[in-house]
Amino acid sequence: MKIDLNLSPIANHLENPRWPALIAGPCSAESEEQLLDTARQLKETKRISYFRAGVWKPRTRPGSFEGVGEVALKWLQTVKQETGLRTAVEIATTEHVELALKYGVDVLWVGARTSVNPFSVQEIANSIKGCNVMVLVKNPVNPDLQLWVGALERINRAGITQLAAIHRGFSAYEKSVYRNEPVWSMPIELKTLCPSLPIICDPSHIAGKRDLVPLVAQKALDLNMDGLMVEVHNNPCIAKSDAEQQLLPNAYAQMIYALQLREITPARPEQRSELDAYRQQIDVIDETIFRSMAQRMSISQKIGQYKKDHNLMVLQLNRWEEILEKRCGLATAMGLNYEFTKRLLELVHEESINLQTEIMG
Ligand code: PEP
Ligand code: MN
Repeated sequence: MKIDLNLSPIANHLENPRWPALIAGPCSAESEEQLLDTARQLKETKRISYFRAGVWKPRTRPGSFEGVGEVALKWLQTVKQETGLRTAVEIATTEHVELALKYGVDVLWVGARTSVNPFSVQEIANSIKGCNVMVLVKNPVNPDLQLWVGALERINRAGITQLAAIHRGFSAYEKSVYRNEPVWSMPIELKTLCPSLPIICDPSHIAGKRDLVPLVAQKALDLNMDGLMVEVHNNPCIAKSDAEQQLLPNAYAQMIYALQLREITPARPEQRSELDAYRQQIDVIDETIFRSMAQRMSISQKIGQYKKDHNLMVLQLNRWEEILEKRCGLATAMGLNYEFTKRLLELVHEESINLQTEIMG
């Protein structure tokens, strides 16, 4: 089912309207000099739509640097006066919203630790009601699409039409190369549910280390995301938060200028017909897969009937283990990825079991 949001487009304020919106700036505002120096250097790149800075920082442990608070909003006003850059800050409480609006901040974003809590999001929505401000909603820390959608709906129902979502990855229990595991299927699903909602990627919080940021940024653009939010600091080594993932302004410029902007459709007609031919092949193969799947399920139902008639258990663990082992061996020998095969088989097996349990009554 589609999600009905009332949205107006988000301007990227760049020379070329085709470029993704680019939000860049330090994780935290630390001093007026740091903000001004970073903002001036970013302005020079000509690839910045909005200047970000964290004023209140949601830190995991107490005693860490928790942001300088209201004074940074004055510094951001100076940044805006001196560079003309529009500003963006994270808000988590009604008080943050009131202060940010009082100081003329252009963009407010709801962080991952806030979007997870419907009470907090609703309070923010109530305090923003009817304001002409742009709001970005980061994905909640856990991969729950409905929670993310719910947060967007709450803000939209408060009359905010300049609205976008930010994919910043998800907390994972298992160790990974990423600080926050990206789940690319989730922004894609969100876009399918709500095609006019801009989706921005935050490669900095996904990567967690600066070397990985450009790779994640390119991947986001390859998936047709509408913008990037990147942490940039004039001296990342001494940053008071997220020091390992922030880029120097010139590294940011290098990354942005090296990014490939891909087309949705090929420019030349002969390339288009080649793509069409591949797509036709895929359509035929998909049909074959589903025909086989339907046959497989109807045999599963016969097995279910047999098990019922002979008073046998639906779940036959040995048989399942044998299938898993043999099929995974076969599929990997054919060049398919092991994890993919395993997940696919588990899905098919689950459906078979469901069908057989229904027959058992
Ligand atoms: C941030 O943008 O600095 C931040 C705290 O992000 P997140 O909410 O994604 O952790
Ligand atoms: Mn940060």
